[in-house]
Amino acid sequence: MSVTDRDALVCSAKGCRLAAEAAVVWRNPRLHDETRRKVWLACAEHRPTLRDYLSLRGFPVEVVGLDAIPEDGR
Ligand SMILES: [Zn+2]
Repeated sequence: MSVTDRDALVCSAKGCRLAAEAAVVWRNPRLHDETRRKVWLACAEHRPTLRDYLSLRGFPVEVVGLDAIPEDGR
């Protein structure tokens, strides 16, 4: 089994080992061009934490389901 298997996806929050249930898709406009997307995986508990962390910095951020992760993300 590889770490890219959907069943093995774990939350991106530091120290969290829970299974991801959503993806936080974001971009830093100062570093990334319009088409670039970064993806953080989030468990139910950390989904708002991760989203708020990014939105407070003024980054475009969107929460999507695990089946909607952009192919070119990460
Ligand atoms: Zn988590």
